[in-house]
Amino acid sequence: MMKISEIRLYLLSAPLQEPIGNALVFFSSRQTLLVEIVANGLSGWGEAWVGPAIAAAAIEHQLARHLVGKDPTSIGSLWQVMREANEGDAVMPAIAAVDMALHDLTARAWDLPLWQLLGGARRDRVRAYASGPFFKPGGHPYRNFHRDIDSYLAQGFRAVKLRSGYNPKDDVEAVLKARRQIGSDADLMIDFNQSCTARRSISTVAQMEEARLLWVEEPVKPTDLPGYRLASAHIATAIAGGEAIFNPAGFLPFFADGSMDILQPDIAICGGLIGVSQVAALAAMYNRPVIPHVWGSTVNFHAALHLVATLPSHRAGGAEPYPYIEFDVGPHPLLDLVRPELDENGCVPVPAGPGLGIDLKAEVLEPYVVDRKVIAA
Ligand SMILES: [Mg+2]
Repeated sequence: MMKISEIRLYLLSAPLQEPIGNALVFFSSRQTLLVEIVANGLSGWGEAWVGPAIAAAAIEHQLARHLVGKDPTSIGSLWQVMREANEGDAVMPAIAAVDMALHDLTARAWDLPLWQLLGGARRDRVRAYASGPFFKPGGHPYRNFHRDIDSYLAQGFRAVKLRSGYNPKDDVEAVLKARRQIGSDADLMIDFNQSCTARRSISTVAQMEEARLLWVEEPVKPTDLPGYRLASAHIATAIAGGEAIFNPAGFLPFFADGSMDILQPDIAICGGLIGVSQVAALAAMYNRPVIPHVWGSTVNFHAALHLVATLPSHRAGGAEPYPYIEFDVGPHPLLDLVRPELDENGCVPVPAGPGLGIDLKAEVLEPYVVDRKVIAA
């Protein structure tokens, strides 16, 4: 039997040369917690990027006692034990990071790619969408959009998601311009990042009809259920959301009232691969596409890539059938640790190697480590 001998925590911060932003906030660094779980000489990697220091403390003080000395391949039962011992949503990113690391470790131990451990892949490459451009501080936030979109198209992307929500006039102008720039065959989406009232999102999107948007993301805050209902009743375009929902059960009201068309749980937030698979199981019954949110490092990205490879297809209006993978195209040194490839058709090949299929060595984290901890028996 395998036995977890150590849990290594790496709190990382990678400063950005220039901040990037959305309608609510600018970021001047990328921060995350990477978790390395070690058993029988093998390592598995997981990640929690939201509140990384809180997740580190939760793993050290709340979760480690249920893990050290245990068999890492008992992923499901360890997940239940962690969840039963910790009520509420605050601990979910920590559980998510552990869940990811246990999956990676188990798949490596069994010499399987993660997608095989998850039940088998439906596709060997996944259509990526460029998650960008972002707002630029100190002037008109849209001023680099044209240049940025050009660079995504040159890289091979065929789908682009703009940040929106600055003001209605500029939002509409930016979206119409972007559609002309990318041509009629590529997909175009916008992300309001919770910045609107429902009525403002309705009136703004009404003026974007010509742009033929694929989806409108997070028009309002996820706690504003009446806002989601109102927006989805009056916007013909699909409504996407869920990146800020910490608990699979948080999606229930959106399933019940049909106000969220595309579900975007984040594997590094919503309880890991098990948590997001619970959402995906419900989504399959409601016949709704799941396109996981990705904002973290290469670990978060690759966990999402493997899960997406296993999900059902949907002809939901895009140039290609869903699911797509979110490819964060802002400056991101922690995604560049093992930069995903993009082929000439704008797709990312799904790795066939064991586990996450990436070779991540602790040494490459060194320039970004701001704090670390080793938890052993
Ligand atoms: Mg978003």
